[in-house]
Amino acid sequence: MCGIVGYIGKKEAFPIIIKGLQRLEYRGYDSAGVALLNGELQIHKCKGKVQDLLNYTKDKNLHGYIGIGHTRWATHGEPNDVNAHPHVSEVGNLAIIHNGIIENYATLKEELIQRGHTFESDTDTEVFVHLIGEIKEKQNVPLEEAVRMAMQHVVGAYAILVISYDHPRKMVAARKSSPLVVGIGDGEYYLASDATPIVEYTRNVVYLNDEEIACIDLENGLSIKSIENEVRTPFVEELEMNLEMLEKGGYEHFMLKEINEQARSIKDSMRGRLRLEDKEIMLGGIKDYEDKIFNADRILIVACGTSWHAGLVGEYLFEDLARIPVEVEYASEFRYRNPIINKNDVVIAISQSGETADTLAAIRLAKEKGATVLGICNVVGSSIARITDAGAYTHAGPEIGVASTKAFTAQLTILSLMALRAAKQRQTISEERYEFLLKELDRVPEAIEQVMKCEAQVKEIAAVFKDARNFLYLGRGYNFPVALEGALKLKEISYIHAEGYPAAEMKHGPIALIDEEMPIVVLATNQHAYEKIVSNIQEVKARKGKVIAVTSKQDEEISKIADYVIEIPPIADPFTPMVTTVPLQFLSYHIALMRDCNVDQPRNLAKSVTVE
Ligand code: GLU
Repeated sequence: MCGIVGYIGKKEAFPIIIKGLQRLEYRGYDSAGVALLNGELQIHKCKGKVQDLLNYTKDKNLHGYIGIGHTRWATHGEPNDVNAHPHVSEVGNLAIIHNGIIENYATLKEELIQRGHTFESDTDTEVFVHLIGEIKEKQNVPLEEAVRMAMQHVVGAYAILVISYDHPRKMVAARKSSPLVVGIGDGEYYLASDATPIVEYTRNVVYLNDEEIACIDLENGLSIKSIENEVRTPFVEELEMNLEMLEKGGYEHFMLKEINEQARSIKDSMRGRLRLEDKEIMLGGIKDYEDKIFNADRILIVACGTSWHAGLVGEYLFEDLARIPVEVEYASEFRYRNPIINKNDVVIAISQSGETADTLAAIRLAKEKGATVLGICNVVGSSIARITDAGAYTHAGPEIGVASTKAFTAQLTILSLMALRAAKQRQTISEERYEFLLKELDRVPEAIEQVMKCEAQVKEIAAVFKDARNFLYLGRGYNFPVALEGALKLKEISYIHAEGYPAAEMKHGPIALIDEEMPIVVLATNQHAYEKIVSNIQEVKARKGKVIAVTSKQDEEISKIADYVIEIPPIADPFTPMVTTVPLQFLSYHIALMRDCNVDQPRNLAKSVTVE
């Protein structure tokens, strides 16, 4: 979850590390720290953001051509100065930064204490570096070998960088289940949790694989070994992202920028895939597995959080259009509940980062049971992209705001393309309907551009309800997952309690909450079941709830009964989620701003959930 950055070369490391940490801060931000080698091992760390670290180090002489830096998302031990990374070994000559969790840290710690070690922090990380240090001292092996040997005792997920006072021209990196990228410059190396801190220096990168140890030595360059001590040849790839994608581009927040980028990111996710001229859909990444999908007994979608909501829309799409049975599962439940998975099942794993720990574990389980596993993720070269049989990238570009917006709508784009293609091949919809839907899907970016105009109106609504303590979101059919997503967005960034429900379920419980204080967002664009949703709104109004309705243009009936009406351009039901979700993103954004919340880095959350 945290961000890690390392530099080794001929430039001053500190500014590079700080800039990198700022780019990675979306991954975790409760404390920050650096270690630099310059004849001594200098460590500076404190609770708070990277800016706090900068303030703290302002008057210090920070110098060194090799260094590591960390922004933490605490798992073991509260966020404070002592628990902040880097941590050092017993002798104090090694420094480590770590992303992930060491599951057996308690046993290891106990054993180390018995052998005379003392610990300063409550972290699992400190145990790891003590273990590496002990092995290095006792066995007198090179640093990379000590790391490799220590890994054999450690259970859990980690990406680590280690430097040593005794080796001022060396850095060791290792990973298991947490991402790590090495950028290769000219006689210098940049290491980071993802490529965002690296792209401004070099386009050549090596993604470490699980259970690999990279040793960077300024004399001998980069060498990689597996935990089994096999030598691996580094596979150098070229980065596709550019710097502009990582900046705010004039917007006040990344989230606002990313909401506004959706017409483009949906278009990018469709480019070359939706071919209106020859009435075809072509998803190159999954082409070889299409027969499996078309003939699947069942599709299982595994995901977490917002991606799980995208999966729910996927269920409606595949069942409605392609008539393939679908189950959508939280990856965290799926992996531990002994699920039934058959060879004729196709599993689709969805994750923005491609590093979500629970989703990765669910994929491994499904593969073990012989299912075909496809991935939908946004980060090229991520673990999910690499361990699935095939997949399709969402071309949303880097998403920095912790609350997902454009990645969600890009995931919906891919699922829509897949379901429509399957529908055509399986002949479950008429040629006429297929062509109509193809055109509608092609129109989505234009509809998104239009719906962006609702921001000013949504801001006014936000001002009315910013102090509400609870919100209810209701939707039917394709709009039900959007209701869940709208509620999640509000919770994530404004800390207001919100729940999403299928509109008809309201009377089975949540209706008891409704009074004149309660804002209820109703997604009422459905061509299908329109009358039913009108009745649901009436039920709310009869109990004096305040209705904010999202409707299709020219809806007179709902306009008469709802308190506030946000109009979206009409679009075919299967693709409405991409459009109806936009006003809900704006609503959460403006409410959060009005409540002085940190929109891009909401409390307690982190962007890439690489721990269980
Ligand atoms: N488990 C470590 C800690 O709590 C690392 C957490 C992280 O990934 O930031 O310090």
